Amino acid sequence: MSAIPPTTRTVQVGNVFIGSEHPVAVQSMTNTDTTQIADSVKQILELAQAGSELVRLTVNTVEAAKAVPLIKDKLLAQSCDVPLVGDFHFNGHKLLESEPACAEALDKYRINPGNVGKGKKRDDQFASMIEVACRYNKPVRIGVNWGSLDQALLARLMDENSKSATPLDNTQLMHHAVVSSALESAEQAVQFGLDKNKIILSCKMSGVQDLISVYQDLSSKCDYPLHLGLTEAGMGAKGIVASTAALAILLQQGIGNTIRISLTPKPGGDRCEEVIVAQEILQSMGLRAFTPPVIACPGCGRTSSTYFQQLAQDIQNHLRTQMPEWRGKHPGVESMQVAVMGCVVNGPGESKHANIGISLPGTGEKPVAPVYVDGKKTVTLKGDNIAEEFQQIVDEYVVTHYKS
Ligand code: SF4
Repeated sequence: MSAIPPTTRTVQVGNVFIGSEHPVAVQSMTNTDTTQIADSVKQILELAQAGSELVRLTVNTVEAAKAVPLIKDKLLAQSCDVPLVGDFHFNGHKLLESEPACAEALDKYRINPGNVGKGKKRDDQFASMIEVACRYNKPVRIGVNWGSLDQALLARLMDENSKSATPLDNTQLMHHAVVSSALESAEQAVQFGLDKNKIILSCKMSGVQDLISVYQDLSSKCDYPLHLGLTEAGMGAKGIVASTAALAILLQQGIGNTIRISLTPKPGGDRCEEVIVAQEILQSMGLRAFTPPVIACPGCGRTSSTYFQQLAQDIQNHLRTQMPEWRGKHPGVESMQVAVMGCVVNGPGESKHANIGISLPGTGEKPVAPVYVDGKKTVTLKGDNIAEEFQQIVDEYVVTHYKS
């Protein structure tokens, strides 16, 4: 079953096209202090290298705004032109006005309509940010987050709801308010002069069912490209599973043009994990291909050693590490399938279906590992260097089968 193609406008962000027939883009966000320029550059490079196609960074102070063009220059000096998205809350109007080099260096501004200001000031400050976007010809993501919903708008909708003959319940009202905030802000941005092809919307929620309901409603009411993400997804398996559950349903319905997985990293953890999870979601669904998938069995009582688990992990890491180089030199390699199997039960069969597969010996089996290339057994490995020899066979396959 394939996803319904999205029918939205296209927005260009730096060198990336978002929306319409363009592939769903992967985004991430730094967690460095933006003013720590070397740290920020290092992490952006790592995120881009991992496959993040846009990187957002916090712009919360004058110092952070002044750091942005310096970060951009250092990235460009290292041939990294990943689009940078400035994340503004509360004082974005001031920073974008007072720091033109920042406004110019950024490829997109993220504006949270709930954190732009209050009362009459809110409209003026929103108008000021949109005016800067128009001046520098930059796209804007109007990024609503239910944790920082525009309280004036919520109060107005609650008032209207209380007078309605068919009032919404609290959950429905919250969903309605989130969607209304995005749509009304987009309408305002257009009134302030922003081209409709410069607008991306998002309505992030932290509950899976909430996110699905809100995005289904939002996508039915506009043709702006949508940025998807479960906000505050959490840590580890919980964050990955919740994000996947929500995004898979929406993506399958053709909803969503860019995604971010908001994982809380472990202390000292790798920020790139959120990029890998986003890629895995898109690749598992057949929407995009990033890295050759490794098909590995879960193991069972027929293979009690960890040897095959280690080999599967080593091969997966090797493929991921090689991809930045292979991507340019060996087009199509991301679709190659590699199987690493634990014993003779499913090993030969699964290996034959992959481009390259290895069937390791299970407990009590002869200590040999047949290797299959394009369905045919080509060699049987044995001894202490099976992992190295198999990796070499994979590398040779890449060179001979994926030529630019
Ligand atoms: S291939 Fe063999 S080791 Fe792997 S899960 Fe199946 S029976 Fe167990």
